[in-house]
Formats: sequence, C-alpha cells, structure tokens
Amino acid sequence: MAEYIGRFAPSPSGRLHFGSLVAALGSYAVAKHKNGKILLRIEDLDFFRCKKEYTSIILKELDEFGFVFDGEPYIQSEHTDVYYRVAKKLVEEDKAFYCNCTRSHLKTGVCHCREKGLKENAQDNLALRFIIPSTHQNSFEDEIYGVISSPVTVDALTLIRRDKVISYNLACVVDDIHQGVTQVVRGSDLIDITTTQMCLYNALDTECISYLHLPLAMADETYKLSKQNRSPAVLDQGPPSQMLIKALAFLNQDISGLNPQMTPKVILNKALDNFEIQKIPVGKKVIEA
Ligand SMILES: [Zn+2]
Repeated sequence: MAEYIGRFAPSPSGRLHFGSLVAALGSYAVAKHKNGKILLRIEDLDFFRCKKEYTSIILKELDEFGFVFDGEPYIQSEHTDVYYRVAKKLVEEDKAFYCNCTRSHLKTGVCHCREKGLKENAQDNLALRFIIPSTHQNSFEDEIYGVISSPVTVDALTLIRRDKVISYNLACVVDDIHQGVTQVVRGSDLIDITTTQMCLYNALDTECISYLHLPLAMADETYKLSKQNRSPAVLDQGPPSQMLIKALAFLNQDISGLNPQMTPKVILNKALDNFEIQKIPVGKKVIEA
C-alpha cells in the first residue's frame, strides 16, 4: 500500500484558534495513527488577509503544542509561479477562460466571457475561471461520514481573481497533488467545496484523494470559530497542555489518563497511542467555555 501523506494547512490571517487546533490535532493524529507522514503547509496567498508575522507566530504556537511535522513547512507564497503555470495550462486546454466580470456582476448577472475568448493582456485585470465539466460527481466518500451528497452548484470556479489573488481552491488542489497528499483531513466547513475541488483533480488528470472531515468547532449554534469572526487565540484560553486535552475531548478521544500538568509532548504521545478514528464525531459541536 502507498504511504499515507497528510497535511495541516493553516492560513496566517491570525493566531491559531480552537478550531485550528482541532484541525491540526486531527490531521496529525490520523496521519500518525496510519504510520504516515504529516506535512505543514502555510496557505498565505491572500495577501489582503495574511500577514508574514502570523506565519512565524503559527509556527511557534504549533511548536508549543508539541507538533513535529515532516520536512520544512511549505509556504505557498514562495511558489506562486506554479499556480499561474497550472492555471494557464488549463486555459490552453480549454478548461479555463479569462473573465472581466466584476464580483457583483457574477453574483447577479451572466458571464459571457468564455464565448468572447478574452486573451490575457497586461493592461487588463482579468480573472481566470475554471469551467466545471458537464459530467462531474455530486457526492464523495468521507472516512467519517460515509457517502456525502454535495452537488456542484456553480458552472465556473475562480482560479485567479481580478486582483491577482490565487484562489484557495486552485492552490490547495495543486499542492495536494504536488506534495503527494493521500488524504485530506480538515474541518467540515469545507465539505461543500469538495466535489467542486474534485473537478479540478480530474481536469489535472489526477485521481481524487480520500477525505476525512472533522467536526466543526462552534462558538454557538450559528457561528463557527474562525479568524474572520475574531475567535480568541487558543493559547489565550489556556496553556498548551490544557487546550490539547480539550481538543482531544472535542474529538471524542479517551482523555482519562491525561492531565494538564503533563507536557504537551507527553500528552500528544499518549493521545496518539490511544487515538481512535472511529470515535471522531460528525457535524458541528459547540465548545464549552
Ligand atoms: Zn465573465
């Protein structure tokens, strides 16, 4: 059997919050449990939201939790040429097109840019959009959820925005392919985009990989924890050992032999010994303060 390769891929738009810790711990534990590798990728392509200083802070915080990733962190902003190359190749293959519609036009109007056959021009701020093929899957198999039905609802997917920001979907798929990732473990907020991302795998002539979606940490019934809605930094809520135990409990793991006086490394090692993937719950979970 091929070697398991997983990854944790935070965006440096703020410090780690509890939801990021759950994703880090979940992807880390699943990879270790499967005797695989776990890579760290910094998804910092949105230069409006991501800041360099947060990259160093996130690396330091992950270290405080005792995580040891395989290899050097992969910093997406250092590889932008790769994403542009892939996007242009998709245009050459007639799988993507240049578009000069504004975002507000795309929300309400119809885009006719594909028929216009716009060419890239240094003067124009053109977006580059991927054509969702007419034949595509509307469901996928998740290791925790089983078969998830999630119909693709768009006919095109932005790969590069007019402001030149490379989209999350393009970079994530290109990197997962390039880094040989065999399973994506991530939060359930990304379930809906999965079948759309699978269209990109097909367009890039690559077999789709396997998925495992973790429960979503919610501040209450409606709000997921995220940097955008200013969720508190997890290390402001308690010391690393205590927060690790809390994250393990969130993933429904046995924490009976653990206590906050242990170092994060000891907690992590003990947790990995006893980690049970089948116990990971589905759906959303409100975290208690
Ligand atoms: Zn358009």
